[in-house]
Amino acid sequence: MPPASPRIAILGFAIECNRFSPVSTAADFVQDVDIRGERIVEEARSGASITLPDLPGFFSEMDRTGPWTPVPLRVALAQPGGPVQQEFFDGFHAEIEAGLRAALPLDGVFISSHGAALCTENDDPDGELFASVRAIVGPDVPVIAVLDLHANVSEAMVRNLSVFVGYLRNPHTDIHDRGIEAARHMRELLGGEKTAIAMVKLPLVPPSIALLTADGPYGEMIAYGQERVGGDIMNVSVMAGFAFSDTPKNGYSAVVTARNANSGAARALALDICRRTWKMRTRFRKSMTGLADAIAMAGAAGHDMTLPSVLLADVADNPGGGGRGNTTFILRALVEARVTGALLAVFNDPPLAAMAHRLGVGAEFQAQFNTGETDAFSQPFEARAQVAFLHDGPFVGRRGVLKGVSGDLGPSCLLQIGSVGVVVISNRQQCMDPSQIEALGVDIGRLRCLVVKSRGHFRAGFDEYFASERIIEVDCPGLTSPALHNFAWTRLPRPVYPLDEHATWQEPSG
Ligand SMILES: [Zn+2]
Repeated sequence: MPPASPRIAILGFAIECNRFSPVSTAADFVQDVDIRGERIVEEARSGASITLPDLPGFFSEMDRTGPWTPVPLRVALAQPGGPVQQEFFDGFHAEIEAGLRAALPLDGVFISSHGAALCTENDDPDGELFASVRAIVGPDVPVIAVLDLHANVSEAMVRNLSVFVGYLRNPHTDIHDRGIEAARHMRELLGGEKTAIAMVKLPLVPPSIALLTADGPYGEMIAYGQERVGGDIMNVSVMAGFAFSDTPKNGYSAVVTARNANSGAARALALDICRRTWKMRTRFRKSMTGLADAIAMAGAAGHDMTLPSVLLADVADNPGGGGRGNTTFILRALVEARVTGALLAVFNDPPLAAMAHRLGVGAEFQAQFNTGETDAFSQPFEARAQVAFLHDGPFVGRRGVLKGVSGDLGPSCLLQIGSVGVVVISNRQQCMDPSQIEALGVDIGRLRCLVVKSRGHFRAGFDEYFASERIIEVDCPGLTSPALHNFAWTRLPRPVYPLDEHATWQEPSG
């Protein structure tokens, strides 16, 4: 008999870590999300949660399917960045362990996760967290996590979960649905179902731009897995991973959860998916457009109103992958070429946004970009600018990945540099929702060229304005450049495809 009102611990730890980016600190979590106790429940049921959407999805389905008692502990999320300061993670981890022990006995645990975290002294904090959750609640209590398909999956992560639920879409428009799915599995496991999870990993670390799911090899393999869900197969998660974490656990992984503890079926399907993927590995390569060609296309759209407008994706400076959101390669080129009707959004520069707020709307000044950061990619840029709009920062996403999610740009402004506009913000984040631009008074439909600092999530937010053939991935330097051979990898398992053209895969036996 399932318990009348099962007590389910709720926790979250989610950050995608880029080995090459500056260390992520407590301040980065505080600026994004670091909440405890009943505040978690309030957010999850608010209709516009600040958390990842899997949490409200999980709550809605648990609420719909019967009584339960959430036991909210702590949820900490930060924008993608460098490895997490060890002290912050250790404090978080200790608090979760103490909270779980104090809450015993528990009937289940739900973890809103990402799966590509690093700490300054630990390459697998997610695995460490899952292991201590399992050790505290015991072997028979369902522990279910939702993970980003960019997770770098370790044995410790798989071994300590009851059900492994990975996102199915990139851009990630299904996070809420995966929370619902996790709640359904939770109800089933509370009813006595026993599971087994198998993982098979490939020496395949593709560049992120080769991992869209609307079409292409990755989408095909995810679809193949979904066609096999049913019977003993409870969940199929094809996890492409996040290259820039640069860990020994990097590598495309098939993770299958089976009912009836049917580990044989789980393993056979995971192996089948990896065999099929490996055969088509050459399709996981993708080329970009050079800066000069991209600017020429933007210039042409600015001159000729009969052409559809164009979107330039600055994929190498994606805050959603640990970029600082402040490189000036494309901005400088747009200004020098005097491209008409162009807007770059969003540019992370707190001191510049603060300066605009001090000066006020209409003021003209010599805008100095990147006075606050000094790394190799955050190069200074200076131009005569006018403050066209000011905003305090809050917005609610309206389309795609951020739909219904509350966000905050921080103090922000629209600067006009001749014919080129720039949305400058204070809370570093990826541009992926029209609301982040409309909050600054911009009519996106009137732009001739939009430049976004984003790798791919923008596609789900801006598809109503830009057809996919008018989206140009621009090849510039940056912390998230898909040109993987430009990075000094130290911990990736080598050889690995496509970095090492002749990498081979030894199928696991047994
Ligand atoms: Zn992701």
